[in-house]
This record gives sequence, structure tokens and C-alpha cells, in this order.
Amino acid sequence: MPLLPDSKIVVFIGPPGAGKGTQTELLGKSRSYKSLIAGDILRAEASKSTQFGQRLNKIISEGKLIPDEIVLEVLEKAIEEKDGVSPVLILDGFPRTIGQAEGLEEMLIRKGKQLNKVFYFHIKPETAIERNSNRRYCPVCKKVYNLRTDEPAKKGVCKICGCKLVTREDDKPEIIRDRLSVYEKQTKPLLDFYRKKSLLVEVDGEKAKNELMRDLEHELDD
Ligand code: AMP
Repeated sequence: MPLLPDSKIVVFIGPPGAGKGTQTELLGKSRSYKSLIAGDILRAEASKSTQFGQRLNKIISEGKLIPDEIVLEVLEKAIEEKDGVSPVLILDGFPRTIGQAEGLEEMLIRKGKQLNKVFYFHIKPETAIERNSNRRYCPVCKKVYNLRTDEPAKKGVCKICGCKLVTREDDKPEIIRDRLSVYEKQTKPLLDFYRKKSLLVEVDGEKAKNELMRDLEHELDD
């Protein structure tokens, strides 16, 4: 099924903890927008007990990026599966390198599509560290919690599916620092790449989540 003729493909870029996932979830509820969460898709691949899965798992636990050719192959399949299901498709956490951005551009040209907007979630490094170290994650339904602002009523238990929450291996303080430095070196160059194409929209990731959601809705209605 092709993407809806008027569907918009948008990208969320920002350091770990910038609130991309939270906004993807909120927009999914408020507007039924569909999303592809690169981290979730790659973690699902990494959880397979194949050699390939183990290789991906090691890279993710170390806070490094998965090689572009693997990401492009996995994400292209995922994009095809979400074809035509929503007026807006959010790519959350993809692309993360210039190589991936170029690969995505080629992929969309092949499908007769183009990116509509790229949202850059700006936050201070100390906010990123604070949010990631307070993050807990449900390994089953993927719901994410922040222990400071959004702790479930029953401590340590997912309010949706009742499973035990875990800390992601890559949310340990030393790995968070590595992920931030990977972001600075490999992902930040994308800001100029998309600014030159007049696609970049900067949003304030420090804002209260509902306020930021309204800013994004406004931009997406444009
Ligand atoms: P996230 O859940 O977005 O913080 O991503 C978790 C991890 O998945 C990252 O630290 C990378 O190891 C991997 N990953 C997610 N998205 C990408 C991507 N676009 N390119 C390469 N690796 C990625």
C-alpha cells in the first residue's frame, strides 16, 4: 500500500532524553499519528538470539551506533510496513548520521516522497543526564517512565501491562555520557544538513510536555 498522497513524513532529532519518545507517544494519542521508533525497532532485532541479534545487542549496550547499512535496511522495511496508515508518519531517532540521512533521502525519492519537516529537540546536557538516569522502561509493552515526574502508582511495575520495570543497560551513567558524545559527533552534523535544506524546525525540549505537544501539533498542521 503506498503512503497516503498527502501524508507527511517528519523526523525527530535530539540527544537522548530530549523527549522525542514522549512526544511521539502523546501525538499518537492526540492525533493518532503513527511513528517508527528506531531504538525500539533495533532493540527488537537485538533481542533475537541469533549471532546478528547478539552483535546488535553489544553495540546498543555500549551506547554506540549501529552501522548505517544495517539501520537503513531495517528501517526501510519498517517504513514499508507503515505505508498509508496515517496522515503523518514520525521517524523518531532515525536518521542519526549523515550517511543515514542521505540513505533516507534516496529511499524516499525511490518512493516518490520527501521529508516534510525535521524537528530538532533542544535540551541542556544536564537535562539529558537527569532524564536518562531517572528513566525506567517496560520491556514488554515499551512504556517509558520517569521516576521523578511520572512514577507508576505501584512502584517498579508497569501501569499498563503489570510487568516489572527495568533500567536500560545504556541508561547507566557512564554509558549515558558516551551516548551524548556519540550524539555530538555523529548526529549534530545533521542539524546543518537539514538547515541547508530549509527543513529544520527547532523546538524547546525543556518545555512541559503538553505545551511542547501543542507546539508540535501547530507545526504539523501548517
Ligand atoms: P534510543 O532508544 O533512541 O536511545 O536508541 C538506543 C540505541 O539504539 C542507540 O544508542 C543505538 O545503539 C541504537 N540506535 C537507535 N537508533 C539508531 C540509529 N538511527 N542509528 C544507529 N543506531 C541507532
